[in-house]
Amino acid sequence: MSYVGPDFDPPQPRRSPLRRPLTMAVAAVAVGAVAGWGVWQAVGDTGGGNGGSGSTAGPQTRSATTPAPSPDPTGDATASGGDGKDGGGKGGPSGSSSAPAATGPLKGKVVVIDPGHNPGNFQHTDEINRKVNIGTTSKECDTTGTATNDGHTEARFTLDVARRLRTLLEQQGATVEFTQDDDRAWGPCIDERARIGNEAKADAVVSIHADGSGAGNRGFHVILPGAVHEGAADTRPIVAPSRELGERVAGHFVRATGSAPSNYVGDGTGLVTRTDLGGLNLSTVPKVFIECGNMRDSKDAALLMSGDWRQKAARGISEGIAGFLKN
Ligand code: ZN
Repeated sequence: MSYVGPDFDPPQPRRSPLRRPLTMAVAAVAVGAVAGWGVWQAVGDTGGGNGGSGSTAGPQTRSATTPAPSPDPTGDATASGGDGKDGGGKGGPSGSSSAPAATGPLKGKVVVIDPGHNPGNFQHTDEINRKVNIGTTSKECDTTGTATNDGHTEARFTLDVARRLRTLLEQQGATVEFTQDDDRAWGPCIDERARIGNEAKADAVVSIHADGSGAGNRGFHVILPGAVHEGAADTRPIVAPSRELGERVAGHFVRATGSAPSNYVGDGTGLVTRTDLGGLNLSTVPKVFIECGNMRDSKDAALLMSGDWRQKAARGISEGIAGFLKN
């Protein structure tokens, strides 16, 4: 099967932050998001909202020991050459200085974006299967991530959305740092991903993912850190601010994308609390994950592969972060 690259659109033109009264936008979204969720829950929650079969998927769904179900290495390699440059972001090492606007409502704020997985993880299974300590237990350093049924990888998706998100945040004056920008062969490990946010003293960290659940399972969900106090993990100080961050991201994501909260986890709220993710357990700064949709559902996959939709997703996440930081 020949590889056909997704149709990526360039990011939206730069807008002056001054043209958009963010505080008003946030207030409006709070109402709109709640109304929107009511509609979604009334119309779409036919499954009872419980995690059904196939819903065990989380952001670290698949061990690297399990072969990728569809993406063949060749196809993914093609994708590697194809979509990174069209993602609307800039390259450069993840540790490089950000280039925020000279001014803007987020001036002085530090945001760490964590593009989930790494396109190179498929070729570095030994390295990413190495166990790291996450406070409560030991867990694989990283995972390959999932893919659509026709082989588009989550790792490429997360980088593209992250780059779009970086552009939007920098336009508002934020300083943005990545945990990886396809500038390293694999990883980083989940403990290092957390450490990058901690050492940056980030005001907010968002880890970008897409899920690998069963067909028919649709929608996005934001993962919040639960209270963990064990070993090197102590999330107690970040539980409340992370929830606020997550609620804002979820609300703005609904409004920007029109996507419904997950119909398979979170009981229609789009919010799920977990205590088994190293990237959250080891964070000392407000942090959430977002699973933007389910790559294994064909309808969700069509959205996830759309450049237009990705731009909306990035905008929703950026507005959620901005709302949190300005509060
Ligand atoms: Zn993931």
